[in-house]
Amino acid sequence: MSETGIYEPFYKVIGKELEVFEHAYLNKLPLLLKGPTGSGKSRFIEYATYKSNQKLITVSCHEETSSTDLIGRYLIKGAETVWQDGPLTKAVKEGYIIYLDEIAEARPDILVAIHSLTDHRRILFMDKIGESLKAHPDFMLVASFNPGYQKGFKELKPSTRQRFIALTFNYPEPKLEAEILIGESSVDKEIAKKLIAIGTKIRNLTELGLTETASTRLLVDAAILIKSGLPKRLATETAIVEPLTDDPEIAEALKDLCNLII
Ligand code: ADP
Repeated sequence: MSETGIYEPFYKVIGKELEVFEHAYLNKLPLLLKGPTGSGKSRFIEYATYKSNQKLITVSCHEETSSTDLIGRYLIKGAETVWQDGPLTKAVKEGYIIYLDEIAEARPDILVAIHSLTDHRRILFMDKIGESLKAHPDFMLVASFNPGYQKGFKELKPSTRQRFIALTFNYPEPKLEAEILIGESSVDKEIAKKLIAIGTKIRNLTELGLTETASTRLLVDAAILIKSGLPKRLATETAIVEPLTDDPEIAEALKDLCNLII
């Protein structure tokens, strides 16, 4: 447990990601975590922040996330208007690590807002109150991005990407992924191996045209359901097949595949 009373998050280190993070943090270089959904990006940043004894603020970006949501806004309280700092301002002031999850989903004005924070200036311009804020020495910006090559995924402009150093996340090799499943759910090793076999098969089925594939997260969910006592086939159907597709034929094919293995 850390001094702040937070327990160490469970995270299996896959490669050199912690080393890269430590040096990025030491030099306060903005860091971009690239990789598909459920590949451990968020868990990694929780772990890396914990290991560096820092505090983390996470913002899950979506289509409506704007610079106002990050920087702050005036609120009306009784007869007064009071300024309320947004999470980015708080992080810049107090020296937190801020994690902008799925940054490409947010409105483009947030890219303008972080511009001067991602270069040597390390300044946040708060246009609504006409102030600029020098970042606390401990402040660091981390963002994640899903480079999905399928339709419907938003791209990140090359000029924005160049402002970050970047780490790629992918699904870990089977032995490590099985350890993650066991670590997260305490499921038996044999079951973990079978779930990994299902995951690997689905990841190789590119002809099904799934927009997303069987992530570590989905396999962990199936393991949790099985450990909790749900019949294995029902667990794989509800945790793996149904989240991946709404097409009845593809669902049938995936169910058959799972039932063959488990
Ligand atoms: P992302 O942020 O990439 O969408 P998450 O970090 O939320 O993915 O990971 C999804 C789940 O997968 C986590 O809740 C955790 O159960 C599991 N997971 C993935 N990779 C790891 C890892 N290396 N160590 C521990 N758990 C992991």
